[in-house]
Amino acid sequence: MSSCDVVIVGAGPTGLMAARTLRAAGRSVRVLEARDRVGGRTWTGHIDGQMYEIGGQWVSPDQTALLDLLAELGKETYPRYRDGDSVYIAPDGTRTVYRGEMFPVGEDTQAEMERLIGMLDEMAARIGAEAPWDAEDAAELDSISFHHWLRQQSSDELACANIGMFIAGGMLTKPATAFSALQAVLMAASAGSFSHLVDDHFILDRRVVGGMQSVSEQLAADLGDGVIELNSPVRSISWTDEGVVVTADGTTVEAGHAIVAVPPNLYSRITYDPPLPRTQQIFHQHQSMGLVIKVHATYPTPFWREEGLSGTGFGAGRLVQEVYDNTNHGEEQGTLVGFISDVNAEAMWALDEEERKRTILEAIAEFHGPRALDPIVFYLSDFGSEEWTRGAYATSYDLGGLHRWGRFQNDPVGPIHFASSDIASLGYQHVDGAVRIGRDTAEKILGESGR
Ligand code: FAD
Repeated sequence: MSSCDVVIVGAGPTGLMAARTLRAAGRSVRVLEARDRVGGRTWTGHIDGQMYEIGGQWVSPDQTALLDLLAELGKETYPRYRDGDSVYIAPDGTRTVYRGEMFPVGEDTQAEMERLIGMLDEMAARIGAEAPWDAEDAAELDSISFHHWLRQQSSDELACANIGMFIAGGMLTKPATAFSALQAVLMAASAGSFSHLVDDHFILDRRVVGGMQSVSEQLAADLGDGVIELNSPVRSISWTDEGVVVTADGTTVEAGHAIVAVPPNLYSRITYDPPLPRTQQIFHQHQSMGLVIKVHATYPTPFWREEGLSGTGFGAGRLVQEVYDNTNHGEEQGTLVGFISDVNAEAMWALDEEERKRTILEAIAEFHGPRALDPIVFYLSDFGSEEWTRGAYATSYDLGGLHRWGRFQNDPVGPIHFASSDIASLGYQHVDGAVRIGRDTAEKILGESGR
């Protein structure tokens, strides 16, 4: 058995940032990672020779913890291509090319969308991301689904569908009937405002040259040899007030503290001895992963640009509800990325491979025409079948869960701390939140144990 000051479960951006912070303060750490790679939900893959970011990739201007880390690591970023017109597909399938931020819908619907965006901005500013469960109306907002809350505010169905899309399919990747209005407000507040979420120029601003996983790879390299054990899924944590004994396949580590830096849906894959307290045992069952397929299709050239299109397209209620130009830095070939969420994703996985590919490409061709039907490389991200994630992008509470249990989610149990972007406040569900909570959890341990 080896020993160290802090043992970290999971070498995603959260765990690696915690390790970096602890090491900088002179503490010894070990990081135990289940997969054969670091980076977790950030992952650069090469499919038929084409580089794809299979997991998290975009950085927005409010994500200052991540931007500071990128600067510290000397990593360069580049803007997403977005010159030209966007495409909107209405629920009836009508395609409209438009310019500017507002969807080309009737004036009344536009006004209604602006009113709803204003309401959500006001709520996000008032309630905030730090402790949404403390808001005066937290219980009320957590007892109604976002879908029904929108329809309480407006009788304009199209406005409700368009606004719902930005959080439901776009972020939490669950149907808007499956999470509360309070959870939607947290999502908006964690990104600075609801307006930020509807502004693709803001929220999908830049990418990292070499891919987002390279951030984790560099953090891992900086830790040096012998700190991270790959292929070491943690199976059990025995704990007392004095410390932990963490057992992974092939390794046992004794430490003063543990940081469980895995998404909440995976907490219960670890056996705790003694068991976690009742509150944790209950609420850990109420945080579940969404489901989204990230579709990549690469073409000899970014042909849409020749037609004056940016590659950006939106279609609430369509199979592919968002599509963007995702051409890699410095490449001649053009890549589109699209997203298929929740029930639509389930329907796609139920098809055989050939029919799935054809159906998805036809949906992308609705935005960018028949040339989209013939990519040279095509790939679907499938985090739902990854044992050490089990969904995408992240976890959220079921109806009513956030106001009941959110206040406990960051509490340590004895020497065991929990951390992941899923329980971050600012940067919730994003790499920025992982960087923040990894650093903050390490700081908490340093504070407890005296610097
Ligand atoms: P993870 O990245 O999930 O890392 C957890 C690690 O723990 C993993 O390496 C896992 O293998 C390991 N692990 C789990 N269980 C065990 C165990 N028992 N023992 C040992 N190890 C274990 N964010 C953005 O900012 N921008 C985006 O554009 C964006 N797009 C995304 C697209 C997709 C398809 C997905 C899936 C995510 C996206 N995200 C995006 C979210 C972002 O990737 C996550 O917020 C971030 O990776 C979370 O980091 P983490 O370290 O908290 O968790």
